[in-house]
Amino acid sequence: MKRISDPDQLAEAGLVPAEKLEALHRVASRWAVSITPAMQARIDPADPADPIARQLVPSVAELAIASDEREDPIGDAAYSPVKGITHRYPDRVLLKPTHTCAVYCRFCFRREAVGPGGESLSPAELDAALAYISRDERIWEVILSGGDPLILSPRRLGEIVRRLDAIGHLGVIRVHTRVPAAEPERVDAELVAALRANKAVWIVLHANHARELDEPTRAAVARLVDAGLPVLAQTVLLAGVNDDPATLEALLRALVAMRVKPYYLHHADLAPGTGHFRSSIAAGQALVRGLRGRVSGLCQPSYVLDVPGGAGKIPIGPSYLRESLADGKTVVEDWQGKLHLYPDVEGR
Ligand SMILES: *Cc1c(COP(=O)(O)O)cnc(C)c1O
Ligand code: SF4
Repeated sequence: MKRISDPDQLAEAGLVPAEKLEALHRVASRWAVSITPAMQARIDPADPADPIARQLVPSVAELAIASDEREDPIGDAAYSPVKGITHRYPDRVLLKPTHTCAVYCRFCFRREAVGPGGESLSPAELDAALAYISRDERIWEVILSGGDPLILSPRRLGEIVRRLDAIGHLGVIRVHTRVPAAEPERVDAELVAALRANKAVWIVLHANHARELDEPTRAAVARLVDAGLPVLAQTVLLAGVNDDPATLEALLRALVAMRVKPYYLHHADLAPGTGHFRSSIAAGQALVRGLRGRVSGLCQPSYVLDVPGGAGKIPIGPSYLRESLADGKTVVEDWQGKLHLYPDVEGR
């Protein structure tokens, strides 16, 4: 199997019908296509609702762009003081050394910015980004994002990690990646060695379906965890991919069973042409509510939404605090929906 990067190859692989090719070329000319062999191997071409294909195979539904969708759905541009840096919160910044990914997710919130043509930071731009981080002592954490930072060669990645490791006020280096799921063989001993640092290096794996966590991916993640790197997971809530209780539960359990802690469940962002992936917030809350009590606390992600404009992530999970009564008592709801009175303290 070879990597798929255009609609003709999709047709050859039996993933799209020939009569859709013309429209799909229009989709692919705007948003990059990439399906790695590891991902393709998880697709059942005979299943029209395949959850892996739905994430990665372009669809004519992407040509329907709604008026409330934005090219910069989470407002990154307003928070970019130098090229490659997004500085929204005082204590942490995103550093985006590359725009390239192993796979291009059809729902990606940065779909206008990622792709094989998008250039990486030049050496001078990387110097300027690192100088920005060095200058601002409020910055405690650098989050390598992109694009996918694990697409960089171990040499380039290792250089960035070493230079960050040398910045005194940083406590944590975090790497957001889909590579262990999309191209597990890339996570070899050399790449893992490139991630070694004196500071804490945390990995956040992007995974949306238990089928992505097959043996090669579990082995790739084990190489990271065994090297002492804590691994978290982020999942995008996607209609037709993981928006039902059993699928979500299987994903979360599989993650925890491979030593990965679910961190965020993201409400799908308002990226152009992604309306077919978005569920309602009420449906998302019902799913998350259903997890409480039913699966281990280790499996519970925090359900968050990014608002357009760049205000940041907002937790939108269900609340179990129902009301505060006048006599200091508070009504709380347990996982089975039963209400209880809790004698809260007043005024402190
Ligand atoms: C998501 C994001 C972060 C990280 O937020 P956490 O809640 O710490 O995971 C940091 N900076 C920007 C610009 C972000 O979009
Ligand atoms: S791997 Fe991440 S950045 Fe790349 S296309 Fe998928 S969601 Fe977007």
